[in-house]
Amino acid sequence: MLARQFDALVEAADADGGIDFDGLRVAREGGDASGDGYTFVTPEHEATGLSEAELHAHADGSPYVTNWYFWEREVRRHGSPRRAFLRHAEAAGERGVHERYDALADGMVTEWGQLRIEATLSGDDDGDRRYDVRHVDDADRAVEELETYRDPLDARELAKYDDDGMYRPLKTGTNMPTGWVYPDLDWRDAVETVETLYPATVANWYREREGTLDIDHWTDTTDRQTGIYGIVSELPREAVEWVAEAACDDSQCVKRREWQYSADDELAADGGTGAFPCREPCSLVIAAGRRWTKLEEEEPREYTFRLTPSEKEQIEGIVDAVADGRVDEIREADVYEDANRYRTRYLRAKLFDEHGNLAGVPTEPAGAVEHHDGDGHGDDGDHSGDDHGDHSDDGHGDDDHTGHDDE
Ligand code: SF4
Repeated sequence: MLARQFDALVEAADADGGIDFDGLRVAREGGDASGDGYTFVTPEHEATGLSEAELHAHADGSPYVTNWYFWEREVRRHGSPRRAFLRHAEAAGERGVHERYDALADGMVTEWGQLRIEATLSGDDDGDRRYDVRHVDDADRAVEELETYRDPLDARELAKYDDDGMYRPLKTGTNMPTGWVYPDLDWRDAVETVETLYPATVANWYREREGTLDIDHWTDTTDRQTGIYGIVSELPREAVEWVAEAACDDSQCVKRREWQYSADDELAADGGTGAFPCREPCSLVIAAGRRWTKLEEEEPREYTFRLTPSEKEQIEGIVDAVADGRVDEIREADVYEDANRYRTRYLRAKLFDEHGNLAGVPTEPAGAVEHHDGDGHGDDGDHSGDDHGDHSDDGHGDDDHTGHDDE
């Protein structure tokens, strides 16, 4: 125990009510400074009528005291998301101080989306906590093997691109890059790093726990869109299911979708199991929704193609591989895979005519004026990825709509 910790202990014990925190009770007898001795109580130990020197002897080496000091004199901020998050990171609500200190000595791990946050004790016997933040897939890698960071703001840059160098339009997408580590953060920087990598997630997780998370459902969000995004409110109810299935699934986004079609109309699509909630359709989904709204305006037509059963199944396999992001994993030599490049080129060589029409069947009947939107032309300048990327690269994701700040 440091001298400043004991001074703070005495000061708090002398104040009205003394200390009553995480199993530690310290007070002047009689409850204030007018009493003539101190009481020092923990779940395992009780002493009364103590002089200041005797109080020091009881407090010195007590994890209850350093624990009190860390939470009540360092972190403080009662009722704040960051305090709740840090308490959660060491299961403070479920474990007593001794059990927690034993666990912290080995490291206590919290998974937060694709982040792994490990809380430990500093090793100076002062109860200070240190935090290691990295990708969950790097759990077993030595710090020396990873690129080391210290400044939480650098997290913004490191999470911009995935491991293949592709821009990440969705900060909570499941493509967080690997190979980096924040090995030794204090509690402030630990929370800031997490919030930089996954903006607003700590605040919204906290609001959900407190029962104060306000949800903006699909219709709430799309009804207030203006300008080029105004048409998104016209997307049919049925298509919103497909939007949620396409974008918000656990395989695509680490948030747990809590928004529904409307307050009294729940979507059937699985909302996922993420640790933190998604409180409204994000910028990426709204931008993509605009494209889908235009595509859904088209009327279906009947086309007749002649395909072998294997060709039909191969087309289905290609769609699955693209949708599941598996194309890059398919080896060129593996011609048993539907989306194998050579098999796909073979299919194209066999089935496409010189105009790119599947099985030689034109998209428009002879003499018809082309008006469909399926090829990305005939649109009004919405080239999906480009202007939408900017939307979600502003550090907001969904928090640009929330109007909430963490603390
Ligand atoms: S709307 Fe929410 S759950 Fe869906 S992709 Fe966007 S951030 Fe993820």
